[in-house]
Amino acid sequence: MKHLKSTTIPISAFGNVIKILDKAAAKMKVDPELLEFIKEPRRSTIVKLPVQMDDGTFRMFTGYRVQHSVVRGPAKGGIRYHPNVTLDEVQALASWMTWKCAVAKIPFGGGKGGIICDPSKLSKKELARLTRRYTADLIDLFGSQKDIPAPDVGTDSQTMAWIMDTYSMHKGHTAPGVVTGKPLEIGGSLGRVEATGRGVMISVREICKSIDLDLAEVTVSVQGFGNVGSIAALLLSEEGAKITHVSDQYGAIHNPDGIDIPKLIKHVESKKKVPGFRGAKRCGREDVLFCKVDVLIPAALENVITGKNARRIKARIIGEGANGPTTPEADVILEKKGVIVVPDILCNAGGVIVSYFEWVQDNMGYFWDEPEVNLRLEKKMVEAFYDVYNHSQAHGVSLRLAAYMLAIHRVVSILEMRGIYA
Ligand code: NAD
Repeated sequence: MKHLKSTTIPISAFGNVIKILDKAAAKMKVDPELLEFIKEPRRSTIVKLPVQMDDGTFRMFTGYRVQHSVVRGPAKGGIRYHPNVTLDEVQALASWMTWKCAVAKIPFGGGKGGIICDPSKLSKKELARLTRRYTADLIDLFGSQKDIPAPDVGTDSQTMAWIMDTYSMHKGHTAPGVVTGKPLEIGGSLGRVEATGRGVMISVREICKSIDLDLAEVTVSVQGFGNVGSIAALLLSEEGAKITHVSDQYGAIHNPDGIDIPKLIKHVESKKKVPGFRGAKRCGREDVLFCKVDVLIPAALENVITGKNARRIKARIIGEGANGPTTPEADVILEKKGVIVVPDILCNAGGVIVSYFEWVQDNMGYFWDEPEVNLRLEKKMVEAFYDVYNHSQAHGVSLRLAAYMLAIHRVVSILEMRGIYA
């Protein structure tokens, strides 16, 4: 996840999560005190990190780690390196992880971390020193039974290898279960790289089924062609869907007859950008969001579909590959327009599901082959999809509200069993 450049967040992302939680809770009977408890992050830590640059000078960085909830299990969530990281954003991302893990029925709570930096402007050695210092400062928070980081925007499997090594050096033993998204050689899982995109494909496939839409007939537009967008596009095209529009931070392309996704992936591997691909025409980046297609997959940034532009959406289905691409104001407009939104906490849960499988495999020291990982992912995603879908049908609410209602129920019921140690 190296290419994401700009994540300007004009509105409070954490405030948006609170809004949707309140809306979902209003449809349920939730003890107001418990609701307050589960809304707030359990612990937010800010660290100031002195890092020696390659020229010998020291530079201070700010890092965050938020453990939103440990009610269902250890905090779980990625670490983002980006110039626009804020505590508000990290708290929102940590909270989404809590609800996502509950929807996916995996025994984790929610966490997230971030460092304000531009990784593209740091050398590999500087990134290693920054990551090791961050890990050392937060060492007491992390642990395979406490808080398990993973890659997010601006970090990758190499970052996880440095965290794992730093943690292991301090603890005196190799501890692969402290992070997920590691390289395969040190305890990563087969299928993890493709897992989020695969989960998006499964969600889109199932929602199409529910409205009698044949996947082989659908047209798809994909915003963002990184890990999530490219794999989702590839797997959907393998199912017969026609991917007509693709964008990245550099521009957008379209081909009404369908873009050859394996060729586009090769092109992006060598040129590092979508524009310039020969098998499609250039178009505006906005066209990707507002074109007439069956399915739109936002797989880049937060807050891209807002109260200001939601009316222009022509897709029938939105499969949220990114975290938080749709604001609560946009949600209201889309619902009125009859656009079906498969929410992020369901649609992109494939990544954390296979992270969970990685953690399980690390803990038992035995590793599955890729078909087994994919089969288990398929089962978990389909189960989560129909839990949410059936709940939405039974309560006459949107898929997003249904997902949050289910997730709140799953966190609160465990909280009631465990009780609050007060
Ligand atoms: P990535 O960095 O691999 O890819 C992001 C893509 O978005 C790149 O192609 C980039 O060029 C593009 N992009 C950036 N700004 C853009 C813009 N203005 N218009 C169009 N495209 C733009 O990141 P990723 O791992 O694919 O993650 C994308 C989203 O999915 C993020 O919101 C992330 O939090 C979420 N997510 C990722 C995973 C995962 O396992 N990777 C899991 C769950 C959720």
